[in-house]
Amino acid sequence: MQVNETDIKKMVEQVLQQLGQSQVASNPVAAQESISLGDGVFATVDEAAAAARLAWEKLRKLPLSTRRQMIDSMREISRKYVNELAQLAVEETKLGRVEDKIAKILLATNKTPGVEELVSTAYSGDDGLTLVEYAPIGVFGSITPSTNPAATVINNSISLIAAGNTVVYNPHPSAKQVSIKTLKLLNQAIVAAGGPENCLTSVAAPNLETSAQVMNHPNINALVVTGGGPVVKAAMSVGKKVIAAGPGNPPVVVDETAIISQAATDIVKGASFDNNVLCTAEKEVFVVDKVANALKSEMVKNGAIELKGFQFEKLLEKVLVTKNDKFYPNRDFIGKDANVILQAAGIQASPEVRLIIAETSKDHPLVMTEMLMPILPIVRVPDVDKAIELAVIAEKGNRHTAIMHSQNITNLTKMAQEIQVTIFVKNGPSVAGLGFESEGFTTLTIAGPTGEGLTSAKTFTRQRRCVLVDGLRII
Ligand code: NAD
Repeated sequence: MQVNETDIKKMVEQVLQQLGQSQVASNPVAAQESISLGDGVFATVDEAAAAARLAWEKLRKLPLSTRRQMIDSMREISRKYVNELAQLAVEETKLGRVEDKIAKILLATNKTPGVEELVSTAYSGDDGLTLVEYAPIGVFGSITPSTNPAATVINNSISLIAAGNTVVYNPHPSAKQVSIKTLKLLNQAIVAAGGPENCLTSVAAPNLETSAQVMNHPNINALVVTGGGPVVKAAMSVGKKVIAAGPGNPPVVVDETAIISQAATDIVKGASFDNNVLCTAEKEVFVVDKVANALKSEMVKNGAIELKGFQFEKLLEKVLVTKNDKFYPNRDFIGKDANVILQAAGIQASPEVRLIIAETSKDHPLVMTEMLMPILPIVRVPDVDKAIELAVIAEKGNRHTAIMHSQNITNLTKMAQEIQVTIFVKNGPSVAGLGFESEGFTTLTIAGPTGEGLTSAKTFTRQRRCVLVDGLRII
């Protein structure tokens, strides 16, 4: 038998892997953290991709009625385990609030569209019948974030399976336990409803290397990535179809016609929801000078604390880090409760406080940096035109989300036209843009950079034309 260089490399990898697994087993802490194989979880990306491909070959032959049952069953199991998944997400990632994770998981479970979204278009006439149907793409690679781990896996899985695809996930390494637990439960639900095994797969130990392997794998047809700028850039350089959901920096504009008490309540609610880790959450406010004081005092009545002078400086020292003249959020405080951040800065506050506010200049690092913390800079402006102009700059062309509080239709229309975002919330908290206590479906993958915008089952299909030519034509 001839053994070439690739065979040797494979053998060495296998031995190293076995060695790694036995080391994990002999270390009780590591064993506790290790993720067992099975129910869609594999040791390598090659195995995960092969299993997802086999599952797709089976799925594409099943009737739509089975696909519907699979989706129903996925929703049912997600509802059953919602509390456990929310708790695990917070424990593992140390980001956000359990009650808000529950709300997000339920949103993804109940309001992600299923098979019913894929309605074919029929053209019938003297020359026959043409159908344009939504057909699957095949095996997707999905890279998921730490900020909405279970909710994104549920949302992406319902959309991808409804569209007839299977998927290889690469969850965020710091959210692997909860993401993979979610994936395993969903696979069990799929099988219980008569679907194939391994429709959703992942490696047991996802990391940046496996993320790149998923992106470049020849058995994976297309990618959906949800995360920050670097992962979007990496996916877009691969050369296959990519649906990329990148960072946001949603501005809020408040003009002099807004109902200030309502605006204040909504802004505190949206900006403090899950401690601001949502890409759609309010990240900076531009308020017309005439109503700025009223807005701040209403926000303070509704769970915000305003910091000024020395206290604000202390806070900034904690939450911002500088590298090569650029500002970044201090990761230790991403997604933490306002109280934890205040305590670290030596500031005593009521445990009821959910959001920290402070007046800043228009180009302050807090305004221009996606912080993902319950800290909201407030910028005073002379009029609504200036507010809209600055909001467009702060949004940075992400085409993501913006919020406006106003009773003036002309102002609302101007903002919508100028800012060109995917989600524009008027007179409500940002979470309303995800379908929370509002109309419309939910997505946790908002694809601004590649242009799909709100993703759902339809986004993960290709249009297929089936033409039946009139059989009675005379030749
Ligand atoms: P992150 O970018 O750190 O990680 C996301 C995923 O990408 C992870 O699985 C990670 O392992 C992988 N990854 C990161 N860099 C990579 C690289 N260079 N090559 C290959 N893979 C890489 O994101 P996070 O901190 O978990 O999530 C927060 C970010 O995601 C924020 O910027 C937020 O705005 C954004 N986000 C956007 C949406 C949206 O719908 N647009 C939704 C959720 C989060």
